[in-house]
Amino acid sequence: YYSSETFLFYNGEFKKASETTTDLFGQTLHYGYGAFEGIRSYKTDEGTKIFKAVAHYERLKKSCELINIPFEYSLEDLIEKSYQLLEKNNLDDAYLRPIVFCDPNMSLTKPTGVNLMICAWKWGTYLGDNLLHLSVSSYCRPHPKSIKIEAKVCGHYINSILATNEAKNNGFDEALLLDCEGYVAEGPGANLFFEKNGTLFTPQLGNILPGITRATIIELCNNLGIKIQEGQFTLDQLLQADAAFYCGTAAEVIGITSIDKKEFPLDWEESLGKKLQIAYKNIVTANQFSLQN
Ligand code: PMP
Repeated sequence: YYSSETFLFYNGEFKKASETTTDLFGQTLHYGYGAFEGIRSYKTDEGTKIFKAVAHYERLKKSCELINIPFEYSLEDLIEKSYQLLEKNNLDDAYLRPIVFCDPNMSLTKPTGVNLMICAWKWGTYLGDNLLHLSVSSYCRPHPKSIKIEAKVCGHYINSILATNEAKNNGFDEALLLDCEGYVAEGPGANLFFEKNGTLFTPQLGNILPGITRATIIELCNNLGIKIQEGQFTLDQLLQADAAFYCGTAAEVIGITSIDKKEFPLDWEESLGKKLQIAYKNIVTANQFSLQN
C-alpha cells in the first residue's frame, strides 16, 4: 500500500509516510472509534477523476456526526487535497482512504481531539474478475439499535472481517450476511442486488450501509428503464432468483454464481447485472458528469 516515500495528507499537510507518527494511546486504536471512507479514482479521457467525491466526503462527515466525532473540515478542500495527493503519488487508477481518528483518550467519552489522514494507493480489482461463490454467514449484520449501521465506522468492520474469514476458511470467495431480523442484508464490503423475471431487487436501507455504488446502480436502472424494487427479502427469495451481483466502490459490479453451492440459473453474460457492470464501468471511466456527484 505504501513505501516510506509515499505521500500522505495528514492534519492539513502533505507528509512522507516515513515522517508521520501517531499516538499509541489513541481512542481509535483502542476502541475502533473512528470513521473512514473508500473512494476510487479512475484514469479518464479528461485526466484522473475521483468518482462521486462529494458523496463520499459527505458520508464521512455524516459518519463522524452520527458517532459524535467533530468534523470541521471543508468538503471542497478535502476533495482538492485528494486530487493533489494523487498527483504527488503519481496515481490515476487508485483507491483513496480518508480516515478520521481520535487523539489519546483511554476513557469512553467524547474525543479529546481528532485527526484526518488521507492515503491512496494503486488499485486493480478487489474481489477479482471471476464470478463469486458465496456462503451465508453465521454472523448477522450489527443491529441498528446497537450501532449506527448507516455510518462507515472503523470498529464495525470486525463484523466484516469475521464473516469474510469464515467464508474463506470454508472454501468460499465471499460471505453474504443476513440482518438481525433474518432478511438478506449485504456483503462484508458490498451491497447486494438480485434479478427475478426481469426486475432487480435490493435490500432496503435501515439494516445496511447505504452504498454510494448502490445509489449509482439505482440511478442507472432508472436511466436504462430497468425495473428496480427495494424491500425486505428472505434468503429463500434470493435463492429463487435468476441472477445476483454485489456492488461497491472497491468491488464495482461483480456477478455472483452461487450461494451455499446453489447456482443461479441465468448465465451472467445474459443478466441485468452484466448490463449494469458495463454501464458502471463506462460512467466511472468516461467521466459522465450527470452521475459524478
Ligand atoms: N456495505 C458495506 C458493509 C461496505 O463496507 C461497503 C463499502 N463501503 C458497501 C456496502 C458499498 O458501499 P459503497 O458503494 O459506498 O462503496
